[in-house]
Amino acid sequence: MNAMARHDTGSEERTRVLVVGCGIAGGALAAFLEERAGIEYDVVEVADAFERIGYGVSLWANGVSVLDDLDVLEDVTERGTTPEKIRLRTASGRADSTLELPAIGAGPQLVAVHRADLHDALLVGIPRERIEFGTTVTAVREEPDAVTVELTTGERRTYDLVVGADGIRSAVREHCFEGEQLRHSETAVWSFWTDADGSFPEVMTSVSGPSTEAFLVAIGDRGLVNVGTKRGVEADEKPTTTELRRALSDLGWILPETLERRRGELFADTVREVSMDRWVSDRIALVGDAAHAVHPIAGMGAALALEDARALSRWLASLATVPAAVDQYYLTRREPVRAVQRDAALMERFVLAESRFLRAIRDGLLTATPVLERVLERRLRELAA
Ligand SMILES: Cc1cc2nc3c(=O)[nH]c(=O)nc-3n(C[C@H](O)[C@H](O)[C@H](O)COP(=O)(O)OP(=O)(O)OC[C@H]3O[C@@H](n4cnc5c(N)ncnc54)[C@H](O)[C@@H]3O)c2cc1C
Repeated sequence: MNAMARHDTGSEERTRVLVVGCGIAGGALAAFLEERAGIEYDVVEVADAFERIGYGVSLWANGVSVLDDLDVLEDVTERGTTPEKIRLRTASGRADSTLELPAIGAGPQLVAVHRADLHDALLVGIPRERIEFGTTVTAVREEPDAVTVELTTGERRTYDLVVGADGIRSAVREHCFEGEQLRHSETAVWSFWTDADGSFPEVMTSVSGPSTEAFLVAIGDRGLVNVGTKRGVEADEKPTTTELRRALSDLGWILPETLERRRGELFADTVREVSMDRWVSDRIALVGDAAHAVHPIAGMGAALALEDARALSRWLASLATVPAAVDQYYLTRREPVRAVQRDAALMERFVLAESRFLRAIRDGLLTATPVLERVLERRLRELAA
């Protein structure tokens, strides 16, 4: 039993945590609580079972270090790939640079993996019966010494801490935090898998065109294609395949044929972002997208979710009270999250640039390989720190 479990409750009872949502943040938090902190926890997940959501994610050094701490890095890299170069090209082909990822530390700087494989790896050590599927909270009431929740099962339970790890449309956020924090972006995203043979690039590649970017990476014999395009309006309508075809045609090169050779389902969604001044109260903490969903152009949402889980579990294990641990969790995560939010806003403007002027600047930058390598190295060192 850790120190907090005794001090906080004033008895020998262990601290009880409810994790709402078992995606990337919730899965990682459960894994940390299971392995490290010795805190009692329950997990409720609204879905009846985990689906293999079709998109792939890339995790930079900050996310990679969390996987290492959870002892699942080897598993994840075996399921995915560890690119050592990034190719940046424009739709016109006028700019086409290949950057070497610098070697910093012992592990990989980048891992690209199917989201479902990452999720499976995080949950390897969690007995499935610990996850209460098809269940969520219908009410959350915070009191000075405890939080009472009502569940869809009709049960009422009391915890020392409730963690909202329930993604962009977080019910915990809705129940416990006021004000409008969810914003629909103008961007539509699609993700699909295709054959990685023939013309599919061997090097991980980003292709930028007017208002549009595609990201391609080969993972085994399958090629992942993520596409983002600005639609000009903040719309919540599901993006169509016709819009995707138009975006791929604007990008040209091999993009249109990747869709023709698609394997499996097409993932399509509009981008939503969450920004909040403070995403904790004394006994309620949000983690991952529930707290701060960032534009996927930054390629950072999953890494932030993993970092949140590690930070919260560490503070819970080391501080004497739940409110103190939650406060420290927020204070230590606030700046790194804001830095990513600022980067994401900048990247959205430049990578998905609409105006000719911004596109000219972007395309010019993409030819300056040594400068880009220096910028990339500096950012990777920051992320690895
Ligand atoms: C196309 C695309 C590409 C992306 N690429 C990258 C990338 O390259 N790199 C990167 O780092 N990130 C990327 N992201 C973002 C990343 O996937 C998310 O930031 C990450 O999944 C957030 O994890 P999470 O656990 O907070 O939320 P989620 O993974 O969404 O998990 C939330 C969980 O909560 C459950 N849930 C929802 N509501 C409730 C409820 N009311 N009660 C109980 N459970 C509930 C859900 O079923 C789910 O299991 C991408 C996203 C998209 C859409």
